[in-house]
Parts: sequence; C-alpha cells; structure tokens
Amino acid sequence: MGPDPVASGARARFGAIVAPGLILAAPFLAFTSHNQYPLTSPALWLACLGMVVPGLLLGALGSLGHRRGTAVAIGLSVALAADLHLRLSTPGEKLQVALVCFGLVVAAAAALGERFVPIISAFFGFLVLTTPLAPGGRPLMLETAAADAPAPRSDLPPVVHVILDEQGGVAGIPPELGEAARLRTALREDYVADDFKVYTRAYSRYYDSYNSIPNVLNLSSPAKEFAHLRDTGDEELRILDDNAYFQAMSAKGYRIRVYQSSYMDFSLAPATPVDYALTYEIHSIGILADLPASPLQKAALVLNSYTQSSWAVDRLRDGYAKLRPFAAKVGIALPAVPRIPGGVGVPAAATLKRLTADLARGDNRGTLYFAHITLPHYTYLLDENCKPWPALVDWMDRRAHKGVQENNTAERLARYDKYVSQSLCTRALVGELVDVLKASPDWKDAVVLIHGDHGSRITRHAPTGRNLTKLTPQDHRDSFATFLAIKSPHVPAGVSEVPVAIQDALSLVLDGEEPEPAPAEVYIRMGKGRLDRVPFRGFE
Ligand SMILES: [Zn+2]
Repeated sequence: MGPDPVASGARARFGAIVAPGLILAAPFLAFTSHNQYPLTSPALWLACLGMVVPGLLLGALGSLGHRRGTAVAIGLSVALAADLHLRLSTPGEKLQVALVCFGLVVAAAAALGERFVPIISAFFGFLVLTTPLAPGGRPLMLETAAADAPAPRSDLPPVVHVILDEQGGVAGIPPELGEAARLRTALREDYVADDFKVYTRAYSRYYDSYNSIPNVLNLSSPAKEFAHLRDTGDEELRILDDNAYFQAMSAKGYRIRVYQSSYMDFSLAPATPVDYALTYEIHSIGILADLPASPLQKAALVLNSYTQSSWAVDRLRDGYAKLRPFAAKVGIALPAVPRIPGGVGVPAAATLKRLTADLARGDNRGTLYFAHITLPHYTYLLDENCKPWPALVDWMDRRAHKGVQENNTAERLARYDKYVSQSLCTRALVGELVDVLKASPDWKDAVVLIHGDHGSRITRHAPTGRNLTKLTPQDHRDSFATFLAIKSPHVPAGVSEVPVAIQDALSLVLDGEEPEPAPAEVYIRMGKGRLDRVPFRGFE
C-alpha cells in the first residue's frame, strides 16, 4: 500500500507553512543567545513570535502557489534572515547576499523536489532547538587585567576622569526649555558646590566622538578625520592607537584603570600601559532583561535591536511612516512606530555605578580612573531617577529625520525635554561618585575631571558642508557646546566663562594649568574625510 496522498499533501502543506517560521526564528534565537538574553524570559518568546508569525504568513501565502510558491516563500525568508542577521555595511552588499541566498534556495528546491521542504524544515528546526542551548555569547561586561601591575604610589593623588558622551555645555542649554533652569543648576551650581570649576563656555572642536575623544587624549586638533585611530574596518569598533595622555600619566607613576564601551577601545594601543580595563557592550540586549519594563516593551526592544541593521525592515518602516498621513486623511489613526537605536545608556549607567563601587573600596591613590560613559547619549530612555520611560514612544533618538533638517522646532524641544531627564539621571550618578570621593581622606588633593565630547547634537541642521549656509548659532551650540568641570587642588572652584576647547583641557590634569587661550573654532565636515575649520558661532 503506498502513502495516503491526502495525508502527504496535508503534511507538505503544513511543512510549507512552518518552514519560513523556523527559518526566521533560528537566527533570531542565535542573536538573543549570543547576547545572553535569558531563555526563561517571556519577552524573548514574545519577540520570537514577532519573527515566527510573519514567517508563517509568508509560508501560508507561498503554499497557495504549490511547490513553486513554497520555494519562493522559503527563498524570501532565507534572504530576509540573512538581511536581518548579517551586519553588512552597504545596501548593495545586502542586496547581493539576499539575491545569492534566494537563488541558492530556489535552485535547491528545484533539485530536491518534494524532499526540499522536509530537509530545510529539519535543518532550521534543529537550529531552533539547539542554538539557544549553545554555550558562549558575549558578556555584558568584559574585564581584563595586566598580570604585572605596579604597586600604586601613595604620594600621587587619585585622578578620576569621566567623559560623558553627548553631555552638552551649560551655555548650550536652550533657554526656551521648561526644565532649562533645573539642568543649569545641576550642571553649574551643584558642581561648584562640590568644589568644581565649571567652564560654562566649553566646546568641542569636533562633532563626532571618534574625532573628539582621540584628540582630547592627544591634546591635538588636526583638520582630519579618524586621527589617532586604527583602521578596523568596523564602524562600531574604534581602537585608539595613540594616547599621549595615558603615556604622560604613566610616566608620572600612575597606574591606569579604564572603563570603556565596546564602541571605542583605549586599552589596546601598542605603547599604552593600561593595568585594568572593563568593557561594556553598548548594543547588548542582555542588559535589557533586567529593566523594570513590561514583557511586551522588552520584546519590542529586543526586536528593535535585532532589526537594527536590516535593509528590508528599514524600507518597511519608511513605507509605513509615509502611509500614516494618508490613513489619517481618511480617518484612520495609525500609531507611530518609534525608531529606537538601542539602549546604550543602560549598560553605561551600570558601568558608572561600577566605577563608583570600585572607588568606594578605597586605595585609590596613584591611580588614574578613566571612563567613557555613553550618557546622556541618545537613546533618551531614562527619567531623572534613571528609570526607563514606560511608553516606548518616549524613547527618543536625537533626530526626527535623517537629511538636511534633522528636527523642526517642536521636534527639537521634544527631544531636549527627554534629554534633560537623562542628563539629570547622569548628573545623579556622577553625584554618587563624587560623594564617595568626598567621604574619603583623598578628596583634599584628588583630581576629578568630568566633560562631554560634543554637544547634545539635537540640532535643527547638522553641521555639514551641505548645511553650511543654514547653520545658526543655535545649531553651533547644539553641535559643539559641551560640558567641562574640574576639581583639582590647583584650580579654585567657581565658574569660568572663558571659552575652552576640550581638546586643550587636559593641561588642567597634566600640568595643573589653564589651557592656552585660542580662537574659538570648530570643524565642519565638508565631504568624506575633509574637515574645514570655521569660527565657532555658538556664543554670538
Ligand atoms: Zn560622542
């Protein structure tokens, strides 16, 4: 007796519907397991449904076209899985890979005939079952320590140096903002009360972290991009190759401890003596598991992280955004889907707390603690008590649009509103750190330097050559006005309104001297790799 044709037809149909679901689920589960997102979390499985359900729909649609339709549906889901999973830099590369995937699947379907669906389902089913249990994954925080760290010198005061990424300057706070006065007090009066000197007119000569920070540490300001950085070919991994600052501090006898993000590494420079480095993973979703948010919110975040580099999802988002005004005209209010570029502030806040805990252990003399903290950097998701906003639409990127105009007046202020909350959270975390030091006998001669690396960057127009004629003093302030405060036995507490470029500021630590006065100038990117020096108009 041969196989029952009705039963085998139903089995084939079932396989054709399920296969795309499995194909989209497998790489997603590999991603979450690589990021150490707990398997027991309901959010993980909700997010997984966000992959499986579109896959099943695609499979059902394909199965209507029988074997050919199924081959196309499976080919599309493999291409989409590749687009979602692989971090390729250009749309062209993505399209090539997607086309190759699609072609291979369709060829395999033709070659394998009716064995195709069972084989591909078994393969991806096996991945779905085994991937979440695979060991490894990248840790949220990675610690490395040198074996031959010298004993700390007790004759040298502790130096604590924290770069707060995107902390705008006091002069850059928009006066029209509801909470402007509170932020000004937090960044000026509160620091002065803690014995700091605050430079209200500090600015960065560079707009991007990867240009600003390497030049801060090398006290340099060349008219070129990527100075002092190794070419890693990876936009998400910058390695500093020159570090005049660490070398000078080491020559003074300091041991150096680094607290850094996975975005920029300060511990791998060939001649840089780093005794200890803690690296926090900025794009890790693992840390989101502990957020006090609902499973649905966390699922949305996890999916958002996963779809971050997808070309297809980007097109879908754009299409949906264009559809909304038309739907509104016929009385259908489609909800906004916010673009959430990740939760970099969450691991950064945990790292800042970790630095404070390390300082609380005492024995800090002779040590430079250097930290690069991606706060109050967008995404603005933390309220002033460092709790995430309950509604995801409140999780904001610094810009509403890519292109010539990044924000209109209302969009800019809406972003600033959330930025202020995240800045107040950041200030509170720094406050805890300062309180620990103040309670120690080292406070008297300790040196504490806190500064930003550029402005809030919540601009109407980004400072590029294309926008040159449109830039206003407000755009200059949003782009370049940054925070700078120092507590040092050599620097009396108070407020300075002298414009100081942070690329010159390390003389405060290295020599205990005010930076040399220089004309206030900043760099505007004119084209790829080209920077032009122009007067800083932020204080006009
Ligand atoms: Zn930055």
